[in-house]
Amino acid sequence: MGLQGEKTREMFQRASRVIPHGVNSNFRYWGDEDTLIITRGEGAYIWDADGKRYIDYRLGFGPLILGHAYPAVLERVNQAMQSGTLFAWTSPQEIELAERLAKVCGLGMVRLTNTGTEATMHALRIARAHTGRERFIKFEGQYHGMVDYFMYSSAGTPPGSMGPRESTKNVQMTRGIPAAISQYVINLPFNDVELLEKAVAAHADELAAIIVEPILGNVASIMPQAGFLEAIRSLCDQHGIMMIMDEVKTGFRVALGGAQQYFGIQADLVTYAKSMGNGFPIAAIGGKSEVMMTIEPGVVAHGGTYSGNAVGVAAALATLDVLEKESVIETINQRGQLLMSGLGEILTDAGIPHALSGPPPMFGIVLGVEQPPTDLRSFHDGDLDLYEEICAGLCERGVQPDIDAREPWFLSYSHSEADIAETLTIFEEAVRAAKK
Ligand code: PMP
Repeated sequence: MGLQGEKTREMFQRASRVIPHGVNSNFRYWGDEDTLIITRGEGAYIWDADGKRYIDYRLGFGPLILGHAYPAVLERVNQAMQSGTLFAWTSPQEIELAERLAKVCGLGMVRLTNTGTEATMHALRIARAHTGRERFIKFEGQYHGMVDYFMYSSAGTPPGSMGPRESTKNVQMTRGIPAAISQYVINLPFNDVELLEKAVAAHADELAAIIVEPILGNVASIMPQAGFLEAIRSLCDQHGIMMIMDEVKTGFRVALGGAQQYFGIQADLVTYAKSMGNGFPIAAIGGKSEVMMTIEPGVVAHGGTYSGNAVGVAAALATLDVLEKESVIETINQRGQLLMSGLGEILTDAGIPHALSGPPPMFGIVLGVEQPPTDLRSFHDGDLDLYEEICAGLCERGVQPDIDAREPWFLSYSHSEADIAETLTIFEEAVRAAKK
């Protein structure tokens, strides 16, 4: 692709001398010639070091639900900082935020933390402490953060590596995890109730949790089939297993009350991050009060120096204000739908088989298939190379989804109808160029 302009290249090379591979998260590395240096964001746009503007559909991997540098959020954060940011005590704002989260998301109690990884890590500990059990089920392709326990068959699992559906293999996503960790993790294909029932029957007494991304936000927004989440809920109820919904991507985005509201299913523990703070580091673990009260000083640990810090809390309060008072979710649904329909038409006209999956505020595109995939294995049937080529063409022309087809297109309140129209024009050009 060669996305870097001259200044970007220079800065990237400078970065690479002091930051491994020039990035502070491996997911941001697109290779030595395409990894960007971004200097500014506003609304739906970001600008690189050469001043090139992109319409941004990555949105920092999802968080910027209102758009970059959203004034109401910045004002609240600015104001909050003037009174100090960290006290190692509870602040009135933390209480207000917990109350509002509990109400909006249908939670008994809430603990604040800073990142999705911290939230899922603590949720798993609470589930284990609550049940006195150690193993857990997750689903292939689901990403729950950088914790050792979750780094099996998560984002980036190569096709053909997971073994047979009936006896899946845990694919270790990184070196540096003790081999023994794998025994605690059972990976299953998403959307397969029969295999789930079998696994639960075989391991019920050992299972602390079933953790699920209710929509596969790390595999092209694959949707749960009717009855799948319900089956998890009911198996958890039957066997005293904790259902953990990882709403780090879906929270505040698919509905104000997240996927729990969208699908009408209540989990025992829920994790939130991303859209909760519109780009500021703030996250939460919530759930039923009796489960959350497993946390006990000196007995069951949850902590963090920056948990509930004033900046993250102010950002979350301001974001919630906008989400509650303005028609944000309606708008990102409407604009997302416009975009999905337009992209679909262009692909149909170009004779490229495709499936669009997921809800409009975070949808995926899989090329070369007639039906939306139902799990990571069927996602791998898609033409990922063609997708990458089209996305490379988009980036060259100033529209930026992720080049990895697993990552959904994210909509923000700042994406206008004009931005969607411009995106569609550019998409048509990129498709035409890729077909050549
Ligand atoms: N859970 C899910 C579903 C995620 O998508 C992510 C991040 N993409 C995480 C957890 C981890 O969140 P963070 O990067 O904030 O640690």
